[in-house]
Amino acid sequence: TLAWNGYRHLELYYAVSGMGAVCHTLNPRLFAEQLVYIVGHAEDAWIFVDLTFVPQLEALAPKLQEAAPGLGFVVMTDEAHMPDTSLPGARCYERLMMAVPASAEEDPWPLFDENLASSLCYTSGTTGNPKGVLYSHRSTVLHALGACMADTLGLWSGDSVLPVVPMFHANAWGLPYAAAAAGSKMVFPGAALDGASLYELLDGERVTVAAGVPTVWLALLSHLKAEGVALPHMSRTVIGGAAAPRSMIRAFEEDLGVPVLHSWGMTETSPLGAVGRLKGKDQERPLEERLDRQVKQGRGVYGVEMRLVDDEGGIQPWDGEAQGELQVRGPWVAQEYFKGEGGEILDEDGWFSTGDVATLDPDGYMQITDRAKDVIKSGGEWISSIELENEAMGHPEVAEAAVIGLPHPKWDERPLLVVVPAPGTEPTKDALLEHLGPRVASWWLPDDIAFVEELPHTATGKVSKRQLRQRFEGYELPTARDES
Ligand code: AMP
Repeated sequence: TLAWNGYRHLELYYAVSGMGAVCHTLNPRLFAEQLVYIVGHAEDAWIFVDLTFVPQLEALAPKLQEAAPGLGFVVMTDEAHMPDTSLPGARCYERLMMAVPASAEEDPWPLFDENLASSLCYTSGTTGNPKGVLYSHRSTVLHALGACMADTLGLWSGDSVLPVVPMFHANAWGLPYAAAAAGSKMVFPGAALDGASLYELLDGERVTVAAGVPTVWLALLSHLKAEGVALPHMSRTVIGGAAAPRSMIRAFEEDLGVPVLHSWGMTETSPLGAVGRLKGKDQERPLEERLDRQVKQGRGVYGVEMRLVDDEGGIQPWDGEAQGELQVRGPWVAQEYFKGEGGEILDEDGWFSTGDVATLDPDGYMQITDRAKDVIKSGGEWISSIELENEAMGHPEVAEAAVIGLPHPKWDERPLLVVVPAPGTEPTKDALLEHLGPRVASWWLPDDIAFVEELPHTATGKVSKRQLRQRFEGYELPTARDES
């Protein structure tokens, strides 16, 4: 599928997997070469495409058919809107649907082994070519049950669920399955993900729970503020995929009265691994103490075991201080990449190394401090780029912030803070350093601050540190100059 979040996409999730085939979701924001590689590697047979992506696909069709011989195309529309397209042999979705028997008695669903593959999603987070994560019916159902539990997303039949997170990104965090299991209503935003459109949908459809990455919520929050409106129907919001800044969690909790479930996961973990539902004993704490816990990425979902391992392989204590690489194990964690790409990915005891560096506190709240490859090591000590970014984003004149490590003759690496100013503002270095001063250890303070119009983002909407590092390659920190 090459499609936005919409009802036809949902139909495909169930129809394709239900007939025993694999529903492979394609991320339309990937580069053309990556799409061609993925379609070929996955041996795709049909691409179901939304009208918006038809031109993009037309340009690629010859290469795609070369990569996946026999590939066919179905345009996800009705006959009245069927475009005049050069896609070879393109079929019309609704016309195909008319040929399907109307009742399950006439055409019963096949039965098959629960370990049969049901869906496929490629992750671009790792180095080298994108790697495929193949989900089974079993892992998908278990993951949906995990998502529904009261201490995780707690979905139920009275919920109206809006996945803002794309259905091409880790199955929209499994919500299309969890919502159906719980009997919740589903609401789909299509292509309109700006603040105004999202607000209209959240309000009009009385959405009770929505899920998305922080960038999307930034746009929504600024729209709500500008219009002076709130979200009275929402009982919680799920923020994950990247760290939710404290200021964002506070805005939801304090200004809107909407509790935030900060969540962590990966394509390889289906994706839910941890959800930040406060423990019973923490629910009544004052706001700041609740926020201290909510900026963490949550507690392990039942079914997912977690542990921290340091550079020497030593298991770290759950004391909220010791850092280590986060490893996870469980029935919806990938055992290998599709077709065995990248070799073994589990250790002999079945643990998967996430590439995230984290702490775990005695109550089980896990906090991501960095991607292992983004860690900044200054004089042998780790500086958390995520924490610096979050604190910077708490400044009213900062729209978005990212921190990278740059070479330093004395300390090996020192942090550079890259800031996108909020519209109509001109923050200064001094003002930002003054803001950060009381909030982080003094040796964490960035050695320099660069202002840019925008940050590079990956196909899944996260800041691309790799591209940012490329952009600042050769950039000399003023402190490095002084030392050399
Ligand atoms: P993906 O497979 O594209 O969903 O990316 C997974 C990665 O996103 C994780 O390994 C983390 O580095 C990052 N990530 C996901 N959720 C969070 C979160 N709540 N806070 C910080 N990083 C996150």
